[in-house]
Amino acid sequence: MAKQQVPVKKNDMIEVEFQDITHDGAGVAKVNGYTLFVPSGLPGEKAKVKVLKTKKNYGFGKVIERLSDSEFRTTPQCPIYGQCGGCQLQHVSYEGQLNFKQKQVEDVLARIGHLKHVPVHPIIGMEDPWNYRNKAQVPVGENETGLIAGFYQRGSHRIIDMKACHIQEDTNDTVVRVVKEVATDLGIHAYDEKKHRGVLRHIIAKYGRQTEEVMVVLITNTKDLPHKKQLIEQLIERIPNVKSIVHNVNSQRTNVIFGKETNVIWGEPYIYDYIGDVKFAISAQSFYQVNPVQTKVLYDKALEYAQLTGEETVIDAYCGIGTISLFLAKKAKKVYGVEIVGQAIADAKRNARLNNIENAEFFVGEAEKVIPWWYKQGIQADVIVVDPPRKGCDEALLNTIIEMKPNRIVYVSCNPATLARDLRILEDGGFETKEVQPVDMFSQTTHVELVALMSRIDE
Ligand code: SAH
Repeated sequence: MAKQQVPVKKNDMIEVEFQDITHDGAGVAKVNGYTLFVPSGLPGEKAKVKVLKTKKNYGFGKVIERLSDSEFRTTPQCPIYGQCGGCQLQHVSYEGQLNFKQKQVEDVLARIGHLKHVPVHPIIGMEDPWNYRNKAQVPVGENETGLIAGFYQRGSHRIIDMKACHIQEDTNDTVVRVVKEVATDLGIHAYDEKKHRGVLRHIIAKYGRQTEEVMVVLITNTKDLPHKKQLIEQLIERIPNVKSIVHNVNSQRTNVIFGKETNVIWGEPYIYDYIGDVKFAISAQSFYQVNPVQTKVLYDKALEYAQLTGEETVIDAYCGIGTISLFLAKKAKKVYGVEIVGQAIADAKRNARLNNIENAEFFVGEAEKVIPWWYKQGIQADVIVVDPPRKGCDEALLNTIIEMKPNRIVYVSCNPATLARDLRILEDGGFETKEVQPVDMFSQTTHVELVALMSRIDE
């Protein structure tokens, strides 16, 4: 094969038309078949681009001047959108974001999974695609005016002060602002990462969307929290609905946020929230879905796909704090949940008790080891639900599912590429993909969630 010539070189100024957008939101342009990735370019737009770097098969550039605008281009809401790495699609209208995610899912299922025949339903978007995140977690720094808190500038550890994050619940912005002001007034200093000195490292705010309860977590480098009494007094006076104030000590030189020692310094150890009618206890360190409204939409779909009558045994693999398991338990005979993080399983058990759910059992371990072992013990699932991390299911687990022959598999995924790969393996093992439903859980970002239904093909 003839060696492909790279048609551009560094610092070239060229005119391109964008054809596509990558899964992380960069524009894709072709120059004589050679691919250039250019941040912010949208399909259909023409732009003058400067080439920044070339590799053998692809290169990178930046827009110098946009020559035409996509119908989906819009003005980002955040003044700091360009610096913060949190959102990738604020320059795209919400309609455009949903179109982009839909197309991405369809393309990936066809290309990686050879699943062109599978119906992909229109993505379910949010009614209001802003102010949805229920948890803020921000590093603290200091300048001439006092404490600052926000996010690290892209590619560095320089803290940019943030007044409001538009994908956050407003309450969490209030918590962060009040903590900054009160701590500044009391002369509490920020932790200095370089000198490994100072006090306040991180502020975390958690909010129960249904209950409106608020938790404040303060993480310090020091064992003591200076001016603790005044600090607590002012926080409870100024933060509406605060139910819990937690102090965590992290004296290590590390990027890990939490240290080992956690003390509830005021109020309750938990706040509560509901997804549907299932109640969840949220502690300082427990995992909880950040968009509970769309989580309900996603899990309702998973429940619908599971088609439970009350007679089924269900396995929920990668169950976390048991969110899906508890949702399903109300409609199933028995649910077995398995998850690798011990603390999450402790939370799952507590949440089962909290909801008087007695037909859900939870186990700590690797899904790919525990489920084959269950199978050997004679546990036979009618429905298997999986909700793995981005890398998808372990092959050993997929093989066990194929051997176990459940009637249905409900696959919840945060990564279309690994979903497509795993659906293909399961299809080759005797299952058929019936339908796929994308759900937008993370508006303004490129992330997309999906739920797929598979049925066993009867021999
Ligand atoms: N279904 C859960 C969250 C799923 S996120 C919910 O809705 O809350 C994926 C989960 O898989 C994480 O909790 C992670 O800790 C867990 N995990 C990762 N690898 C695993 C493995 N090999 N076996 C079991 N669980 C695993």
